[in-house]
Amino acid sequence: MAIRQIRIIGDEILSKECKPVREMNGRTRELIADMFDTMYDGNGCGLAAPQVGIRKQIVVMDIDDGNRYVMINPTVLKQSGTQTGPEGCLSVPGKNGEVTRANYVKVKALNENMEEYTLEGEGLLARCILHECDHLEGKLYVEKVEGELYDVEPEEE
Ligand code: ZN
Repeated sequence: MAIRQIRIIGDEILSKECKPVREMNGRTRELIADMFDTMYDGNGCGLAAPQVGIRKQIVVMDIDDGNRYVMINPTVLKQSGTQTGPEGCLSVPGKNGEVTRANYVKVKALNENMEEYTLEGEGLLARCILHECDHLEGKLYVEKVEGELYDVEPEEE
């Protein structure tokens, strides 16, 4: 178990496009395991590789629905509906903001074994998928916030 340092808004890696993963290897498997550890340590529901300083198209997510999602090289296939609600990011500590996103999304991605699968999400999962895919394009949710960011209390352990 290794917790990696999370890059904070203002760090230029967070505004760069990430590169596709070509093959799975030991280093990348370790990165994915560390990304889960780092996400759980920060009480986040998603984490993208650039947030730990790696410019690769890798996302991990856990929204407490019993699944641990890994998305490698994800592509959004379909989006529909809208939802507006609070959003936060481990790279923007202590803040939330209201963001409108699609309420339904369908993506294709590779799993940890580089096998293609599709994932459909609604509500929180759709929000999380779209937030993390934005990271891979060098975009942060703060660009999409309606109104001002506001302070949030740190979550109790
Ligand atoms: Zn984020």
